[in-house]
This record gives sequence, C-alpha cells and structure tokens, in this order.
Amino acid sequence: MDPKLYERYSRQILFTEIGEAGQRRLLESSAVLVGCGALGTALANLLVRAGLGKLRIVDRDFVEPSNLQRQTLFEESDARETLPKAVAAERRLRAINSGVAVEGIVADLGPKNAGELLRGFPLILDGTDNFETRFLLNDAAIHLDVPWIYAAVVASYGVTLTVRPGETACLACALESDAPSGRDVGSQAAGAGAPAGVEDTCDTAGVLGAAAGVIASIEAAEAIKLLLGNTESVGGRLVSFDVWSGRYQSVRVPRNPDCRACIRRDFRYLEGDAQPHLTMCGRDSVQIHERRRQLDLAELGRRLAPTVAEVRENGFLLRFRVPPYEMTVFADGRAIIKGTQDTSVARSLYARYIGA
Ligand SMILES: [Zn+2]
Repeated sequence: MDPKLYERYSRQILFTEIGEAGQRRLLESSAVLVGCGALGTALANLLVRAGLGKLRIVDRDFVEPSNLQRQTLFEESDARETLPKAVAAERRLRAINSGVAVEGIVADLGPKNAGELLRGFPLILDGTDNFETRFLLNDAAIHLDVPWIYAAVVASYGVTLTVRPGETACLACALESDAPSGRDVGSQAAGAGAPAGVEDTCDTAGVLGAAAGVIASIEAAEAIKLLLGNTESVGGRLVSFDVWSGRYQSVRVPRNPDCRACIRRDFRYLEGDAQPHLTMCGRDSVQIHERRRQLDLAELGRRLAPTVAEVRENGFLLRFRVPPYEMTVFADGRAIIKGTQDTSVARSLYARYIGA
C-alpha cells in the first residue's frame, strides 16, 4: 500500500480484524446511502473517514437551520443558502477525504428511479426518515440480492437491523409479521409502527443528536464488516439503544416463513402499488412527489416574482411564500408545501403556481 495511505489509515490497519488487506479491500468498496439527515450525515462521515472507495448519497431535501443541531456535515452557510443536503454533504465529505469518490444526487427515491439509483452497489444504507422508503429499500435490496442496513431514530431512541437477503430476516419479517419482539422493538422507533399509520417523527417527538450518533455508529460498523466480507457476525438482530435511559437491546429476529417480501417476493413497494402521489412530510408539510418533469427554476422564479413573496432560487431549488404557505420546488417537479396538512390545499397551490 502507498505509504501515505498506510499512514492515513494506520490506526484502523492496527485493528487486527481489518489489517492492511482489509483496508485495501475497503478502499475498493462502495455503498449507496439513501437519506442524509441525522443518521445519514453521521454514517457518511464515519465511512468516508474510514476510507471506502465510493459513496453515493441520495437525498431529496435541503438544509434548514433546525437541522444543524444534529446533522453533523452541515454548516450555517448551507442553511442560509438552502443547499440541497446531497450537494452540501458531497462538498463537505470531499474536503474531509478527497480520496473517496463521493457522489451526491438530489432526488426523491421512489419505485420509478430506485433501480437506477441503487443498482451496482454491493451495500444499501438507510438514512431515511420514513417507512414507505424503508420498505421500498427492503424490496429493492431483496430484488437486487444485496445486503442493506435499516436504521431509525426518534427522540432519545433508535434501532438498526442488518438484512442479508436469503440469509437473515428482512424488514418485512421484522415489522410485518406477528413476531411480537420485532414489532414491539421496531414500532418504538416508528411511533405507532404501521407504515401507513400515525407515527412519531423527528418533527413531532424531536430527536437527539446523541441517539443518531449511536445508531449511525452501529450501522457504520456493520457496513464495514459487510464490505470486508465478514458476514458471520452480521445480521438477524434488531439492535436498539436509548441514550436517555441507557437501555440497550439486541433481539434475534427470526425469518418469517411466509414473509411477503423475502419469501413470497411480493415487491409491492418497488412496484409502486403502495406509493401515494402526495405524502405528509413533517408536522405541517405535504410533499408532492416528482412527476418526471423538468422545470426551469430560474424562469419559473421570474414568472412568479410579481405575484408571490420572497422568491429565492439557487440552481437546485426554488422557494417562495404565498402566506401562510411556503413552497419549495425542485427541478424534477417535486414540491414541498409548508403550512398545511391538507393535501387538497397542497394540490391546488401546486396547480396554481407550478401547473398541473
Ligand atoms: Zn422477510
């Protein structure tokens, strides 16, 4: 190994489970991370510093001041410029380790683009904040036959589960089956648990950076083990940690012999049957999913300027206010409407200002 690389990773190489051969293997490995919030930033930071070869980051959102308390890759200037998280994370990570090929992609991962965004990577990492996308990742990982690591965090509590398709329980085994352990532990982090139900989220119950840090660290260690091909100790256990109570649990999750996803191969999330066109997004926002249309944001901004307030455009997104609402529109036609929980209000604002 090149002496400079050896020096850079020397403390990891000294760890006998990795060694020089393991580090070399890590430098040639890659992973795709979906979601770059509290978990995603902490996880990406650990993996890029550890020296994996390539990391793709897919995120649909932009940096806001309320993210800075826990999303460790972002700075005040990112929030001021409302940079997309994928863009801000890529910049920061390249500065941290220029030897890693970091690729930030601003996109809302859904059934239509999941194959294109995830294919070619030997590991999929969960940094998302919702179960709709997690079940989509689970379907996609089983379909592509690559491992993925589920992780979720809310308030002071988080869970993680490593899934190796065909070998260990998948997320549907854990959360859709009647196995009480899986559902109980999983649902604590999911609030009410059911993906379609009312959930505690970081926007309603808050979230501690410390909780995200612990879960992201467990996820990063699992990722490194998988990338090194060390699978004996990986997967099949739902690990949870509450940083406030100090409670730690590691529960073995059995495979469900009748699992919808990993046994019956019913990939309803991947096929789009479960994907709504509009979803709730946080406490008082509605997201209108992308429609595969390309918007000229600068032109749209000029057109809207006379009729709406506070138009801002930065090449990645366009934001403006129609009091009491605030709309953020992305180049792929996706929009987030803040200030309402009413999907019909969101739909009508979209039609009025962006077009049907
Ligand atoms: Zn399963």
